[in-house]
Amino acid sequence: MQLQIFRKTFPVFPDQKEINGIVYPIAVHYSDGRTASARVRGGSLIFRIPRKASRTQAESMFSSLLRRIERSVIDGSGIQRPFTVHDNEVLQVMGNEFRIAMREKDFSVKRVHARLSGSNTILVSVSSGLPVSEQARMASKAVKRLISKIMLNAVEGRIRDINNTYYNFDFSTASIGRINMTRWGSCSPSRGRINLDFRLLFAPPDVMDSVIVHELCHLKVSRHNRRFWELVYRAMPDYKEKRKWLNKNGNALGQGSLHSTEHAISAAPQQSGDAVDEI
Ligand SMILES: [Zn+2]
Repeated sequence: MQLQIFRKTFPVFPDQKEINGIVYPIAVHYSDGRTASARVRGGSLIFRIPRKASRTQAESMFSSLLRRIERSVIDGSGIQRPFTVHDNEVLQVMGNEFRIAMREKDFSVKRVHARLSGSNTILVSVSSGLPVSEQARMASKAVKRLISKIMLNAVEGRIRDINNTYYNFDFSTASIGRINMTRWGSCSPSRGRINLDFRLLFAPPDVMDSVIVHELCHLKVSRHNRRFWELVYRAMPDYKEKRKWLNKNGNALGQGSLHSTEHAISAAPQQSGDAVDEI
């Protein structure tokens, strides 16, 4: 009899999902974090569910994410093309313009190197021994790394400005990186650390701010409760509009087609789908 007390019921997830005639295998991983997320990777749907969630919570997080991911795959926004750069392309990053200049070089090893030349040229040297597709892939990766490094100070400065103006929470450092389909930022309250998605560097400043505000508030309140939203709206009364914009345009950021995004923010907010926050 006593055993029943300890018997845990595990959530049940489907192992595949058909969307538009394509079958996507589903993989569910458990994480120590407190938020759930999902993304499309290599033709699979990858879910992360907090280990601590109850069975009911886990199943409801899963089905809500599955609905969103299905919708985004159908309208194309969920298919994240990798960040790619081309010779002579101009990237607009947080009010700066960087021109890409690609050069082939006879490196002794097959490699790619990116560096800042002057104030706004990113010089990318690619090994002539590499196939063109590999040159492009490695160049994009090197540019991404360089831009993240160059902009980190500005991003941290922006976080500090917002924090000092509205909150004075314990913020220590930021990082720029991980791409994730349903989340734009994450934070580690114990270390005062905030991580922002690389694509936000290409977003209008107030859109990036909305993610910063969200993560800053998580340094103080971990759940999305009333107190949390009060803090968010204190700094940004029109928070929802920014996140709607991000939901709608986010996956095109850093894709070249949306270089000048400043005007887009004034467009009427998308009517459908108000699930702007990560779950
Ligand atoms: Zn959140």
